[in-house]
Amino acid sequence: MHNTICIGGIELGGTKTVFAIGNTAGTIFRKETVPTREPVSVIADACRFFKNDARAISALGVGAFGPVVIDRQAPDFGHLLETNKPGWSGFDLMGALAAGIGVPALLVTDVGAAAIAEARLGALRSVEIGIYLTVGTGIGGAIICNGELLPALLHPEMGHVALHRLPDDGASSTCSFHDDCAEGLVAGPAILARFGASLDHFAPASAQFDLVADYLGQLCSNLVLTLSPQRIVLGGGVGQAPGLTLAVQEAMVRKLGVYGPAATRQAGYVCPPALAQDAGVIGAVLCAVGSSEARTIVNI
Ligand SMILES: [Zn+2]
Repeated sequence: MHNTICIGGIELGGTKTVFAIGNTAGTIFRKETVPTREPVSVIADACRFFKNDARAISALGVGAFGPVVIDRQAPDFGHLLETNKPGWSGFDLMGALAAGIGVPALLVTDVGAAAIAEARLGALRSVEIGIYLTVGTGIGGAIICNGELLPALLHPEMGHVALHRLPDDGASSTCSFHDDCAEGLVAGPAILARFGASLDHFAPASAQFDLVADYLGQLCSNLVLTLSPQRIVLGGGVGQAPGLTLAVQEAMVRKLGVYGPAATRQAGYVCPPALAQDAGVIGAVLCAVGSSEARTIVNI
């Protein structure tokens, strides 16, 4: 197996970072998880992981929390923008990895990496236009077009789309910028602030569950009206609450009314991710394999 092409992957998350070495099919040979600390420590961990392995990697895929500049033409490509994570604001992530590891590297968002994994190996296979929506500490999304991420100026910020507040909903938004965006109304911290408990403490059809499903259904309705996807994957910690995908789909269909294509009413149109926790790092590996730049780099 000396001719196996090995690809590195890094999933840089808000609380943990995963390093992996895999192949071009997305099979992971070895991985390691470390807590996300200040940048210097995380980069040192990455260098140790990849350099202490006998398998030389040909390319590196990175799925990073945002906001991060993913436009390769931008002068600050690979830099983190303003973030509340200590030490990361303005950090030149891709520059540091290039200096420390020294292989061609591709950058997507963490949500984008998970979406790539679902597109190649999971719930968005054989879908021309699909959306991966993650609802957890925040709400993020990625758009898949024919197996690839739709190119973007920055990256989609679907969580900050404005929604119509439900009558009598006077709860404070947890988004510091918007009073009525999806993230501020029903991401994990917003649910905790509203109800004093996470969503999995509430049964489907309870008032609390219905409120969350209604807002997420409204968000999905907006995405259907804008992008006309063939499937929406609902992931993340909140997204995993039993029964939520079905309740969100039903709310979405109600909001769409006559503008909802028949496919949006079929079972599984809004569905959970097919891959487990490794989706992010598998996607990081696969994005380096799948990009045209990396195909040239690793000659596949
Ligand atoms: Zn917002």
